[in-house]
Amino acid sequence: DAPVAKPPLSVLICAPRGFCAGVVRAIDAVEKALALYGPPVYVRHEIVHNKYVVESLKRKGAIFVDELDEVPDTDAPVIFSAHGVPKSVPEEAAQRRLFGIDATCPLVTKVHREAEVHHKKGRHVLLIGHAGHPEVVGTMGQLPQGAISLIETIEDAGTIAVADPDKLAYVTQTTLSVDDTQAIVDALKARFPSIAAPHKEDICYATTNRQEAVKRVAPQVDAMIVVGSPNSSNSQRLREVAERAGCPVARLVLRTDEIDWSMFSDIRSLGVTAGASAPEILVEEIIDAFAERFEVTVETVSMADESVFFPLPRALRDEAAE
Ligand code: SF4
Repeated sequence: DAPVAKPPLSVLICAPRGFCAGVVRAIDAVEKALALYGPPVYVRHEIVHNKYVVESLKRKGAIFVDELDEVPDTDAPVIFSAHGVPKSVPEEAAQRRLFGIDATCPLVTKVHREAEVHHKKGRHVLLIGHAGHPEVVGTMGQLPQGAISLIETIEDAGTIAVADPDKLAYVTQTTLSVDDTQAIVDALKARFPSIAAPHKEDICYATTNRQEAVKRVAPQVDAMIVVGSPNSSNSQRLREVAERAGCPVARLVLRTDEIDWSMFSDIRSLGVTAGASAPEILVEEIIDAFAERFEVTVETVSMADESVFFPLPRALRDEAAE
């Protein structure tokens, strides 16, 4: 029998995609701690929101915990995740004489410092973000209770009651939708014209660049796959951006076994991107799975070059261990 010809599929891969500098640094920090001090290394919270990354670090000897009280009294390092932590966490670690290592992304730390400066200047801080996300918990925990109010939606921006509209500032989560956030900021500025804004956007370069690339690719393809975990904020936003840019099918998947192939049977073009916490190997896996079913041609659509790099936390640099 003549082999059945596979249907053609044009795959447009978004660039940049996948790991950002903050995630690379956080994963490197766990690996470096394992190399310098040996297992176990405790990690508070998923170091990044990706099951695949977390599982592979577990195999190397990392132990993930939700809270510090799950860490025994030990000399082993305890690493705080890239999302940042409330001030109470390093304080508690110091009290217990634990060896805490902070892998908070420097771009999240920047937001923490902004919030503190506003607070010192007597301003009430509005944090634009999603309730319950670890980054939001960490940022709220930089200031005393009540000093920050969370704004989740444009409705919140329209109804929030503030004591003194002239003593007000806003900061944001780093991984939000650029467009939604702009709408919320506009609503806040309309109500509170003197509200203090960040000097430079709090939404980070990686979030912005990944959303830009999706906006370019999504209108050109029949379907879009975002490689990432459901609990990854920036990955969820990429899926929404694809949908809003007019892509009929936009799905968030971590591994090939999550793909519902019936959604993709008639497509002739596919866009692929990955959230900031998704390793490139998973992107390759997904493209390989499509190549088994389609005659695939691949093209990269690049919207920005990224060369951002953050050095490891001080305690893990080579000179510190000597
Ligand atoms: Fe840092 Fe942005 Fe990556 Fe978050 S998404 S870890 S803020 S670079």
